[in-house]
Amino acid sequence: MDILTLIQDEIKEYDQNILLSMTPIPSDNRFNYRRCKNVMEIMVPINGKPTVLAVGFPEFFPKELPKFFDRSNQFNRIPHKEPDGFLCFSNTESMLIDERYPGAVLLSCLEKVIELIEKGLSGANNDEYLVEFEAYWSRQTQTKITYASINTENTQVRELDLWRIPVKSSFALIATETHADATTIVKALFGVSLKEAEKYRCMYLPLKSGTNKTPPKYFSNWDLADMKASLLSNLDPLNKKRFHQIAALKRKSPNTYDYVIGGLPIPNNNWALFGMEIYNPRASLYTNRKNRKIASIILHPFVQAPPEYKTTPLVIKRWNQDYLLNRTGGQSSLKAKHVVVVGVGAIGSEIANGLSKSGVGKLTLIDDDTYTLDNIYRHYLGGKFVFYESEQLGLRNPEKVAAMQVDQTSKYPFTKVEIYAEKFRSVFDQGSIDWKTVDLVICAIGKPNDEMHINQLLHGLPNPPATIYTWVEPLGIGGHALVTLNDNKRGCYQCLFKPDSTDQISNRASFSQPFQDFSRSITGCGSFFTPYSFLDASKTANLALEAGIKVLLGIEKGSPLLSWKGDSSAFEQLGYQLSSRYSFSVEKLHELRYHYIDDDCPICRERGE
Ligand SMILES: [Zn+2]
Repeated sequence: MDILTLIQDEIKEYDQNILLSMTPIPSDNRFNYRRCKNVMEIMVPINGKPTVLAVGFPEFFPKELPKFFDRSNQFNRIPHKEPDGFLCFSNTESMLIDERYPGAVLLSCLEKVIELIEKGLSGANNDEYLVEFEAYWSRQTQTKITYASINTENTQVRELDLWRIPVKSSFALIATETHADATTIVKALFGVSLKEAEKYRCMYLPLKSGTNKTPPKYFSNWDLADMKASLLSNLDPLNKKRFHQIAALKRKSPNTYDYVIGGLPIPNNNWALFGMEIYNPRASLYTNRKNRKIASIILHPFVQAPPEYKTTPLVIKRWNQDYLLNRTGGQSSLKAKHVVVVGVGAIGSEIANGLSKSGVGKLTLIDDDTYTLDNIYRHYLGGKFVFYESEQLGLRNPEKVAAMQVDQTSKYPFTKVEIYAEKFRSVFDQGSIDWKTVDLVICAIGKPNDEMHINQLLHGLPNPPATIYTWVEPLGIGGHALVTLNDNKRGCYQCLFKPDSTDQISNRASFSQPFQDFSRSITGCGSFFTPYSFLDASKTANLALEAGIKVLLGIEKGSPLLSWKGDSSAFEQLGYQLSSRYSFSVEKLHELRYHYIDDDCPICRERGE
């Protein structure tokens, strides 16, 4: 049985009054109904009046939803109706489809379409024109993309920097608020150099709130007069004045092109951005006798249209940091944070990368180790950056921090990365870091004695930053992150090493019995390593990272000891012994997360006791 008969039979069973009749019609051309092969003409009530729509069933219906069309253009222009009559009724990503009842799927979609049409006819969803303004804007013909970083919270008319950058046989348009690091950021994000680029005048005109603008009709471009009227008549008086001031400035750059970007306030505190390029072929004639371009006042095309010009609508793609972060669930509140990562080995490198990815504004990386071939299957950087060519010394291994800096700044150009290829102690003693500016320290060295020392040094500061110590256990049994100095000084790394009844010290957080040696050596002295995999390192890094972000956001309080527990079979097969702490359930580990605190700790105990 074909799908249409199937649906018809199913729908007969329902008591419903929105699908009044259905007649299969031939789909002469598969592109006529957006590739739907099966098409029906249906009669539905719109405002109580029987009305004809077309419905197409895509190849994978009901996995794919039916498509509805107003082919005879009965409703003229309503929001969400496209030029071919297609009615865009739903964001299909979030809709769960019960494939067993294709007829019911059709009916529930139809309900939405009827609602969409009725709202459109009554004007109740005219807001949607604002919400969809950018989508409509992009349907003009011969558009160009402009990548723009605009701070829409600033509602002043102002100039942006706009470059026209040659890319192969074409040009890229990139605009930004004036930014000292623009060259670096553009290079990192777009892979193009601003050196070859010509800079042009670009004005940003944010419209006053309450502006109600209907977008251009499909495939019919706004001309210069439309753009000028829409923008200038919707500026508040101060912004209008600013526009005329900027428009009157003498230009040093060529005036062949002028760019205008409008900002339209739309619901939910958002802005629709749309632009226009105005090409003035005669502007380049303003040269002096030696054929150099001279500074000249060419009136802004909004003030006086050039005798000859060509306009092109600009579709704006955003690349400002807040926008990029918010799209991915990143935290724009982290961009003011400064985090110091001590140790950028397998765990520290993952942590540093995670912090950049979360939008942390500044990283300081401290590690005196070099990056070598031995690192690549555990370290975040992999096989990249293992060597560089030195003028005198030939092939050399870079410092880990230097390799990380190159990697991170090229991937996350909004994050500042500062590095010290030294031991923590010397950085600390030289006073290189202003600890008052640091929001968080994460120590991922994995050497207890170094970390005890750092713990002691940081506890000695008048206002020490929150500090997390993190390390991984051998052979996949687990990893830990200890949060300290988070609002109060109780609980520290030293607490973990409280002497036992026989006055011996060991790490009490450990999942392995103390005094076992896990280090392996392949080539003898100097290359000992603890056996753990990149997965163990990643899990541990994630544990520390999550704790760190919660500390930065003020969600995590106090100084918990956090642990993840892994599989112990490889560990036990080799004859190693687990600690009693390993036998605790996840719930118990959580419950006891503050129990490590040692009331007699020489570092963090209450003074005067
Ligand atoms: Zn302590």
